[in-house]
Amino acid sequence: MNQQELEKIKKKALEEHIPIIMDETLEVMEKYLVKIRPQKILEIGTAVGYSAMCFTRFLAENGRIDTIEREADRVKEAKDNVKKVGVEDKICIYEGDAVEILPTLKEPYDMVFIDAAKGKYPFFLKEALRLIHSHGIIFADNILYKGYVLSDYNKHKQRTAVRNLREYIKEVSENPNLETEILEVGDGLAVSQVKKKEC
Ligand code: SAH
Ligand code: MG
Repeated sequence: MNQQELEKIKKKALEEHIPIIMDETLEVMEKYLVKIRPQKILEIGTAVGYSAMCFTRFLAENGRIDTIEREADRVKEAKDNVKKVGVEDKICIYEGDAVEILPTLKEPYDMVFIDAAKGKYPFFLKEALRLIHSHGIIFADNILYKGYVLSDYNKHKQRTAVRNLREYIKEVSENPNLETEILEVGDGLAVSQVKKKEC
């Protein structure tokens, strides 16, 4: 993997205000990933492929990442980027709305990373629970959304997003088959480990 290209892509994405994963969030995820060594990862929200390319380092041999992005320009850029970095054999990019694509997926995944439209997190969770392996782990980025989720200030424009993020937190916390931590790292990261598969 071409680390220098990856750094260039990261720099460009930051300059263009594309919301790529924050360094400290990635660091926390890495601690889990080195232990799991996932065979298959599902990512919802590719953007330009940055996080997916970072995750390739932790895949088991012959492991693969499926990632979904609805914006055509970003899909194109992500496809160019994975070629430049030399990880095109490890990343499969699906173009379209995850709300439509997720129900068509069947295989179990060892890890799911939710990082797309905040208003859809409860739906993404439902699909993640269907697709996750019995020893799997589900991460959700931006779960605290600039602190709005934990504040009682209710007048901001992002009210729908906040309501759905709160619902996500409630569901993962109350699900008896999940062991969940809500971490204040970056923009907030929910980490839910599957205890047994009946969820
Ligand atoms: N995971 C990336 C960042 C993703 S940013 C990284 O860390 O590098 C969120 C992306 O999700 C955006 O590119 C947006 O277009 C996409 N997105 C939002 N809602 C979506 C949906 N319903 N289906 C597919 N993609 C979606
Ligand atoms: Mg994010």
